[in-house]
Amino acid sequence: MLADAERKLTLERDLALALERQEIAVHLQLQVDREHCPVGAELLLRWRRADGVLVPPDVFIPIAESSGLIVSLGDWVLRQACQAWLTLDAAGHPMPLSVNVSPLQFRQPDFVERVRATLRETGAPADQMIFEVTEGLLVSDLDATIARMHELSAMGIRFSIDDFGTGYSNLAYLRKMPLYELKIDKSFIRDTPNDVNGTAIVQSILAMADHLDLRVVAEGIETSQQADYLAEHGSPCMQGYLFARPAPLEDLLARLAQPDTL
Ligand code: C2E
Ligand code: CA
Ligand code: CA
Ligand code: CA
Repeated sequence: MLADAERKLTLERDLALALERQEIAVHLQLQVDREHCPVGAELLLRWRRADGVLVPPDVFIPIAESSGLIVSLGDWVLRQACQAWLTLDAAGHPMPLSVNVSPLQFRQPDFVERVRATLRETGAPADQMIFEVTEGLLVSDLDATIARMHELSAMGIRFSIDDFGTGYSNLAYLRKMPLYELKIDKSFIRDTPNDVNGTAIVQSILAMADHLDLRVVAEGIETSQQADYLAEHGSPCMQGYLFARPAPLEDLLARLAQPDTL
C-alpha cells in the first residue's frame, strides 16, 4: 500500500511537470459513418515520460483529477482541439472534434469563460467542438450542470454523453439537457453480436437515441461483425481500431489525403 501511495505521489509530481516538458501529446481517433466515411475525431491524451515509458490515460487521468491538474490539462486539450480543427480545415477536411471534459473541469466556476477565451484566441468555431461528458457529471448539482450546459450550448458547443449506459443516472435528465449525442461504451460492444445481454443494451440505446433524436457513436469497434451488426440496427457512427487507432494529427492528415485507405 505504501509503495502504491509513493508511486502515485511520484506520478503526480511528474505529471505536474509533464506539460512544460512537452511529454504530453494528443492523439486523434477518427469516427466514421455506416459507409465508413470520416465524420469526426476524438482527442485522446497521451503521456510519454522522458524515460520513454508510456503512461496510460486510465492511470494518469484519475491522478490528474484527484490533484486538480485536470483543469489545466483540460484547457490545454481544448486549445489543441481548436488548433487541430484549423489545421484540418486548412487541409480541406473540416470535421467536428470531440473533447473529453472531466466533471472537475466542468465544475470550475470560470469554465465557461475559459472555453470562450480559448475559442476566441484560436478562432476555432464553437459549433465544431463536441464536449464528451460522463454520467458522473450528473450525480450532483443537476440543475447547475444543466444550466451550464445550456450556456455552452448557446455558444454552439455540442454535448455527448460518454460511456453511456455504465452510470446509474435516471433517464429523465436526458430530456432536460441540450444533448447532441450518446456514446455507447465499448464494454457493450465487445461481445456484440454474440452476447445477448450486450446486444440487448446496444439495441435499447439505439432505440432511445432514435426516439430522442440523438446521434449515436459506438466506440470500441474492432471487428467487421460488430460494424455490420450496428449498421443493420440503426445508423450509428462508429469509432474503433477496425477503422483507425488514435494517432498524431499528421497521421490523420496523411490518411485523409488518401480516402480509399479507409
Ligand atoms: P474514453 O473517453 O472512453 O475513450 C475511449 C478509449 O477507448 C480510448 O482509450 C481509446 O484509445 C480506446 N479505444 C478506441 N478504439 C478502441 C477499440 O477498438 N478497442 C479498444 N479496446 N479500445 C479502443 P484511451 O486513449 O486509453 O483513454 C482512456 C480514457 O482516458 C478515455 O476513455 C477517457 O475517459 C480518458 N481520457 C483520455 N483523454 C482525455 C482527456 O483529454 N480528458 C479527459 N478528461 N479524459 C481523457
Ligand atoms: Ca470519450
Ligand atoms: Ca468509453
Ligand atoms: Ca470515459
